Amino acid sequence: MARVREVIKECNTGLVRGLSLQIIAEMNQLSPNILVSFADLNVQATNPKAVNLFLQPMAKEALRDALEDRPGHKLRINSAYRTIAQQYLLRAQFEKNLCGITAAARPGFSNHEDGLALDTSDYNEWRGALEANGWDWLGGADPVHFDYKGGGVRSDISVICIRAFQSLWNKHNPLDPITADGVYGPQTEARLRESPAEGFAAARTLRLAEPQMRGEDVAKVQAALANAGFKGGKKGVFDTATDTAVKAFQAARGLVADGIVGAGTRRALGLQL
Ligand SMILES: [Zn+2]
Repeated sequence: MARVREVIKECNTGLVRGLSLQIIAEMNQLSPNILVSFADLNVQATNPKAVNLFLQPMAKEALRDALEDRPGHKLRINSAYRTIAQQYLLRAQFEKNLCGITAAARPGFSNHEDGLALDTSDYNEWRGALEANGWDWLGGADPVHFDYKGGGVRSDISVICIRAFQSLWNKHNPLDPITADGVYGPQTEARLRESPAEGFAAARTLRLAEPQMRGEDVAKVQAALANAGFKGGKKGVFDTATDTAVKAFQAARGLVADGIVGAGTRRALGLQL
């Protein structure tokens, strides 16, 4: 599975969609209803994989009003909410002179990371309805861009996005935790670069099997077992020594000692579910 750093040169922020949707879900877990989908409105993304149709709730309502002012007209959306993963890609492309990106804010500093922005190439057609409903046209060098300027919004969305990524990373990498402080620094950027572009895979159930199960997930379970005082097994291979260590750990924790690493044992080991 491709890592974020491996898709920079592909010139397509849609390649980090899986990771972006996981980050948005985590944001809404940290702070319920912080971003809402507006895919149910009369809109169409020009690139459905690259565009996240998400806004803050008040911005969505103002957009609904603007659309109701022009019944029967579909609004084409070139860009809306960007996660830290997408902004990282754009910034990296800009810094490396790739993909024709002539300007991109540092991750955490784009006006598309607030959940209050949208771009439409049909700005002439829509400017009136949008401006009548709380959306400001940026004009000038970036004529496709509109910002919601009405009340009832939060100004910390980009911080929560960074914290959501950090928290997501920690859930999936319990042996390499980072501080979930919402600050985008070198530690966070290094983890973002190594994250799977399509998103973190759900954990598989591990057990002694034929052929033997192998992989990074097995190594993580072994490392967590060793931390808990139950060392054993060839690294990355679920062998009989690993099975013995799992059963001993389960017995010590009052779990069913069946050697199967599912949700209960993972939770007891402090690993992702
Ligand atoms: Zn824009």
